Amino acid sequence: MTTDLSAHPGKVLDLANRTRVNAFGVQSAGESVQPLAITRRPLNLDDVQIEIEYCGICHSDIHMVNNDWGMSIYPMVPGHEIVGRVLAVGNAVTKFKVGDSVGVGCLVDACGDCPSCANHLEQYCLNGFTLTYGSETPADGITYGGYSTQIVVKESFVLRVPESLDRQSVAPLLCAGITTYSPLKHWNIQPGDVVGVIGLGGLGHMGIQFAHAMGAKVVMITTSESKGRDAKLLGADEVLLSKDEAAMKSWAGTFDFLLNTIPVGHDINPYMALLKVDATMCVVGAIDPLTTGLNTGTMVFSRRSIAGSLIGGLKETQEMLDFCADHAIGAKVEVIPSGEINTAYTRMQNNDIKYRFVIDLNAK
Ligand code: NAP
Ligand code: ZN
Repeated sequence: MTTDLSAHPGKVLDLANRTRVNAFGVQSAGESVQPLAITRRPLNLDDVQIEIEYCGICHSDIHMVNNDWGMSIYPMVPGHEIVGRVLAVGNAVTKFKVGDSVGVGCLVDACGDCPSCANHLEQYCLNGFTLTYGSETPADGITYGGYSTQIVVKESFVLRVPESLDRQSVAPLLCAGITTYSPLKHWNIQPGDVVGVIGLGGLGHMGIQFAHAMGAKVVMITTSESKGRDAKLLGADEVLLSKDEAAMKSWAGTFDFLLNTIPVGHDINPYMALLKVDATMCVVGAIDPLTTGLNTGTMVFSRRSIAGSLIGGLKETQEMLDFCADHAIGAKVEVIPSGEINTAYTRMQNNDIKYRFVIDLNAK
C-alpha cells in the first residue's frame, strides 16, 4: 500500500502546481522502506526535471534511515546516486535539453558565495549545503532523494553522464565514485605510489579501480579472504588480509596513502602503522568514535597524518564521470526492482553484495 505524503501538514506549499511522484522511503527511524507518494516542486527558471531510471543504494542510506548520525529528518526518501534523462527544463537552463543523459549526486544546492563554493568545493560550503535528501528548504519542505521516479534539481547541480557509460553502473559513481576519486586526486596519487584501499564494498571497489587507473600499485586491505580474487580483477596488485597480524607487520611502513572505507567505528591503529613516513590515511567511511583510542605514537614517530574527506564538488564530480568514460570504469552492480530494497539493506549489513545494489525505478 502506498502512503500519500503529498498533503503532509506544513511540508508542502502550493500543492496545485506540484507533480505527484511515486517514491520509496520511511516515515520514522528504523522503519522498513515502503511505497510513498510525494510531490516535486514546479520548475524554477534554472531547474531541470529528471525522469529517474536508476538509483544506487549507498551504505549512507542505511545510516540515514536509522538516524545513526542523529541528523535525519522524516519522512525520508533516500537515494543520492541518481541517473536518468531530462524530461523538461526551465526557461533559463542552457546546459541541458530534453532527453539528455544526466546524474545527480549527494548535493542539490549550496550558498554559491563562500570561499569553499568559490573554489568548487560545494561539499564544504560554509553556509550549509542542501542534501539531495533529508534537508529542509522553503521550496521543497523536505528534500526527497532518488528512490523515486522523478526529481527536480537546479541546473548547476546536475551532471552530464557520458552516453558511452553503462547506465546501471554509472549510478554508484555519483557518490561511491566521487568519494573515492576526490581524495586520490587531492593527495596527488602518482604512478608507482603504493595505495591501500581498506574495505572492499561500494566505495572500496571504486577506489581500487581509480587508484589502478592513476598508475598506483594498489593493495586491497580486507577482512574477507573470499574477496581477494575479485580485488585483483578490479585492478588490485596485492591483497592484504587485515586479520593476519604477521602479514600486516610485513607491510608496516610501506604505504604512500591509505583510503579507509570501513563503515563503522574500529581500531585504526593497526592500519596507521602501514603508512610510510609523512604519509596520510584518509577516512571516508565511519563517522563514529574509534573503538580503540588513536595511538598518537603512530603519528608522532613517523610524522604520519590522518584526514577525512567528503564526497566531492560538482566540477570534480563531472571530471570523475569523464575520467570513467575515458578509462571504461564503472561500478559492479546488482540491479533490483524497488520491491527488494529492504532485502538489499539486510544483505548490505551482512556484507553480502558485490558491490553495489542499484534500484531500477522502472521495475516493480
Ligand atoms: P559497504 O558497501 O557496506 O562496504 C563497506 C566495506 O567495509 C565492507 O564491504 C567490508 O569490506 C568492510 N567492513 C565492513 N564492516 C567492517 C568492520 N567491522 N571492520 C572492518 N571492515 C569492515 O559500504 P559503502 O557503501 O562502501 O560505504 C562505506 C562507508 O562510507 C559508509 O559508512 C558510508 O556511510 C560512507 N560514505 C562516506 C562518504 C563520504 O563522503 N565520506 C560518501 C559515501 C559513503 P571487506 O569485506 O573487504 O573487509
Ligand atoms: Zn552515498
